Amino acid sequence: MHELSLARALLTQLAAEAERHAFARVLRVKLAIGALGHVDPDALAFAFEVASKGTLAAGAALDIERVAGAAHCLGCGADVAVHGRGDFCPKCGGGHLVVTGGEDMKIRELEVA
Ligand SMILES: [Zn+2]
Repeated sequence: MHELSLARALLTQLAAEAERHAFARVLRVKLAIGALGHVDPDALAFAFEVASKGTLAAGAALDIERVAGAAHCLGCGADVAVHGRGDFCPKCGGGHLVVTGGEDMKIRELEVA
């Protein structure tokens, strides 16, 4: 399951942060997820809850924010925000968009103890 591997990657990242910043517990994680990243926020929240058991992030709240993807239009040259693959350019209506961002997952904020 895709979301489970993401949750595990997130926990690995949290453990590395904990080592760097010397905190013992994660209380809340604010995540930004690109709209083009094929991530189901509910599935990710569930996977995180399961995968975090017994870790420093056990019971941590997960806030997931969806951020628009970014694309460059080959038709009119504009850089535009897109919400899904196969979107048309909002400026010229063309269908030749090259995705330039919005596929990744980023930690926005951490609340730690
Ligand atoms: Zn365009």
